[in-house]
Amino acid sequence: MIMDKKYLIEENTTIKKMANLEEIAWINKKEKDYLEYEKALPISDEELKEAEKRLNRFAPFIKKVFPETTDTNGIIESPLEPIFHMQKELEEKYETKIPGKLYLKMDSHLPVAGSIKARGGVYEVLKHAEDLAIAAGLLKLEDDYSILANSNFKEFFSKYKVQVGSTGNLGLSIGITSASLGFEVIVHMSADAKQWKKDMLRAKGVKVVEYESDYGKAVEEGRKSSDADPNSYFVDDEKSMNLFLGYTVAASRIQKQFEEKNIIINQEHPLIVYIPCGVGGAPGGVAYGLKRIFKDNAFVFFIEPTLSPCVILGMESELHEKINVHDIGIHGITHADGLAVASPSGLVGRLMEPILSGGFTVEDYKLYDYLRLLDKYENKKIEPSSCAAFEGPTFLLKHEETRKYMEKKVGKHIEGAYHICWATGGKMVPEEDMKNFLETYLK
Ligand SMILES: *Cc1c(COP(=O)(O)O)cnc(C)c1O
Repeated sequence: MIMDKKYLIEENTTIKKMANLEEIAWINKKEKDYLEYEKALPISDEELKEAEKRLNRFAPFIKKVFPETTDTNGIIESPLEPIFHMQKELEEKYETKIPGKLYLKMDSHLPVAGSIKARGGVYEVLKHAEDLAIAAGLLKLEDDYSILANSNFKEFFSKYKVQVGSTGNLGLSIGITSASLGFEVIVHMSADAKQWKKDMLRAKGVKVVEYESDYGKAVEEGRKSSDADPNSYFVDDEKSMNLFLGYTVAASRIQKQFEEKNIIINQEHPLIVYIPCGVGGAPGGVAYGLKRIFKDNAFVFFIEPTLSPCVILGMESELHEKINVHDIGIHGITHADGLAVASPSGLVGRLMEPILSGGFTVEDYKLYDYLRLLDKYENKKIEPSSCAAFEGPTFLLKHEETRKYMEKKVGKHIEGAYHICWATGGKMVPEEDMKNFLETYLK
């Protein structure tokens, strides 16, 4: 039986605003004090370390097949850049204060996949390949993994299939990585997926199946197709712990970048991070990793389009994967293609309950304004979905909910804050598409 959830709109003012497509700031009422939370962690530190070690084992392989990672010795990582001009322009244009310093974590320019999916997506495919090769007696943990680029491995992996449902970027990441190992790959793309992403995958020999409906359908069909084939592995964006673990590794990496830049995070210098959110996996994994390291000094906010705010809806209603934006009358179609997800990951929503600070929703037209500002004042180009991050620092002190929350949590130390906008995609956008983005005005 499908339960009518419209009652939520009447009972809950936050959900009512979301249903009206208003921009909101949302505070997660279930957040716990870190000391309390730490007593029963849902994911052990060993698991986090294991994920990092696995990526290190694969580094020689990555270096060999993706020469763009030569400088980092096969480690897929992105720069952390100060964007103080952008900070000033945001303050002026939106008549706001952003106390402290604003940085951009440029996962938009991660090697291999040009988006944050180069963390979780790549990780999950590598783990699957490792599991298969070890079980077949072809690989040992101590081996130099560059051997995985040899033709005997390609032949071995070609007997196996990897499938995924995607709005675009996850498909790119899974497709490119799987193809590099020799897997047969099928990417099930939702209607939101950009043409160039499909073209790029097909050029790499990836089979792309297109759907006329949204992401949920692409996932459902992909899962069905994969389940029917014993040699097929399905990368499940809504339920995968491996994807999540791949994203968590971002935290220990950025900790090293802080050290290199003499950035010290403590009570006087809180860390406030803003991450664009689709199904929740990528921002959730990063948030989990950051909270493990920086604890009560880290504050993470997710940003979603007003046209598809599924994770905030799932957490606020406490219904998680049992609710979607259609239930409150939102169609879910947005220019933020990477965030065009109607139904949240319940796995991630529940993991976020005790640690997430909150979230914001943003109207589509603003994404292009942010995109132009970043291009003009920092000469950096990222995709529209990615620009959702700027809503965070710009509106943190403008919305009463988040202003009061920060006052209570950090008080005057907001002056020493490090704000990090997590740029989640953009490098691979073709020049022509980027030119169009720069000229798109929705208001
Ligand atoms: C996938 C993606 C996100 C969000 O990741 P989820 O795991 O879906 O929450 C954000 N930005 C971009 C550009 C993405 O491709």
